[in-house]
Amino acid sequence: MTNSRRIFFKQSLSCASALSLLAVTSAAQAQSAVLDADPQAMALGYSADGSKTDAKRYPNYVAGRSCGGCVLYQGKPSDSSGSCAVFGNKLVASKGWCSAWTQKA
Ligand code: SF4
Repeated sequence: MTNSRRIFFKQSLSCASALSLLAVTSAAQAQSAVLDADPQAMALGYSADGSKTDAKRYPNYVAGRSCGGCVLYQGKPSDSSGSCAVFGNKLVASKGWCSAWTQKA
């Protein structure tokens, strides 16, 4: 094998490894969980435990409403979490709540 071929194969392997790592990282980011302390979560009053929502601050909160019953929740209500379009398809807790809550039809 010539030296230039060896270099070509080494570089090809490096590129393939980098692309694989990028794909895994992107998938992990898409499915990372929304944290209560995330700036967007704080702006929307999201809490992973919706029962802790301050009803005075968020008057549209009604006890018993949660992400599992929201039209924007992409999981099954019985799942512990599911993705939410409001948060770029990151995972929200089924028992969570935010001020964008909208009744599932
Ligand atoms: S939009 Fe709906 S599913 Fe998404 S965080 Fe708010 S209440 Fe939960």
